[in-house]
Amino acid sequence: MGLIIQKFGGTSLGDAEKIHRAARRAIRAKLEGNEVVVVVSAMGGSTDTLVDLAYQITDRPNRREMDQLLATGEQVSIALMAMSIHHAGHDAISLTGGQIGLRTDRTFGRARIREITQRGRIISLLKDGSIVIAAGFQGVDAGANITTLGRGGSDTTAVALAASLGADVCEIYTDVDGVYSTDPRIVPEARKLDYIFYDEMLELSSLGAQVMHSRSIELGKNYGVRIHVRSSYTDAKGTDIVKEWSDFDQVIVRGAALKRNLARVELTNVPHQPGIAGEVFTRVAERNVIVDDIIQVVHEGGNTADISFTIEAPEIEAAQALCDEMAVEMPGMTPEIKPHRAKVSVVGVGMRTHTGVASRMFESLHQADVNIENISTSEIVISCVIREADGERALRAVHAAFELEPS
Ligand code: ADP
Ligand code: ASP
Ligand code: MG
Repeated sequence: MGLIIQKFGGTSLGDAEKIHRAARRAIRAKLEGNEVVVVVSAMGGSTDTLVDLAYQITDRPNRREMDQLLATGEQVSIALMAMSIHHAGHDAISLTGGQIGLRTDRTFGRARIREITQRGRIISLLKDGSIVIAAGFQGVDAGANITTLGRGGSDTTAVALAASLGADVCEIYTDVDGVYSTDPRIVPEARKLDYIFYDEMLELSSLGAQVMHSRSIELGKNYGVRIHVRSSYTDAKGTDIVKEWSDFDQVIVRGAALKRNLARVELTNVPHQPGIAGEVFTRVAERNVIVDDIIQVVHEGGNTADISFTIEAPEIEAAQALCDEMAVEMPGMTPEIKPHRAKVSVVGVGMRTHTGVASRMFESLHQADVNIENISTSEIVISCVIREADGERALRAVHAAFELEPS
């Protein structure tokens, strides 16, 4: 007998039949002798509908009220899932984020989990024979405000519950049968992976692979949670997300990802003096704009420099306001924001010990006639900022260059 967390994504809960199918899976695990906690997302597409509704009311929805609104999607699914299990003649109880005591900080829209206080309550419900259905994506802060964990955040609720309850496995049921070498919707030749290391999955998720919420992988790694990503439609074995090992694994590049909806901020002719970069990025941070890929180039003569960085498209407005302010304070400095950018990346722990990955990636982009605007590297990642219109072609090119297709 074990304790299993089963998380069902929105695509697996699209209609009543799909909810019944997910419920049958949970019941089967229970009948096999396990204790089962089910974590559900909102029904497919419903979070997007709620976001649209908010923007029909105002183009600047209040962040607290946005979370209050978005959390309703998951509340619908927990109740329907519990009803489905009851309908099949089994015990189940639905609990919201607040009812499982999922405490977060107060960063509405991307809150971080602090603790799960109602562990005892969940355990006693399981011991009484119920399947516990928990709402993904939502929590409460210390002031009892409802918060959400960021789009795709139900994965993180599931892994946090698995860590807190000491579950044997956290199963992520979705509309693909595992983690692929890249998004199979864009590259049909993508290959399903039997396993992937936490660090690789973490990078792929942060770099655009929607299949897992990146914070869920951080948590999984820190608490050693066994995560298994698999299809909600078949019984095929999926992908294990596991701790790294060194023997036998000869893979250099495990996967590739595409992140869209980026913009590049370029500040040309910034005074080259101590403290300027500090000032620019303090002000960026004050506006809660998350930046990436910072580059500074000092001009000949050494009096001025160019600073550029990447932001996500929804932050363009905040970045523009900041640029306008700085242009007034730094005469001679010209800011420009280039929208419609994307980032294509390759990831693999094998890069630590192998050379030639960057050149192969750049050559494949050249062959695909993709212009690279910016390059960044870390120990296990190489990323290129490109025009968004080139994104899918670039992803297909690098995926083919590293022979990530099935052999
Ligand atoms: P859910 O609703 O189950 O949470 P998501 O839509 O969040 O599902 O994630 C599944 C989707 O992630 C897939 O349909 C697929 O298009 C996309 N995806 C992106 N990168 C990958 C990848 N490397 N492996 C598998 N799926 C990926
Ligand atoms: N329903 C939320 C979303 O669509 C959370 C999730 O699906 O994990 O982003
Ligand atoms: Mg998801």
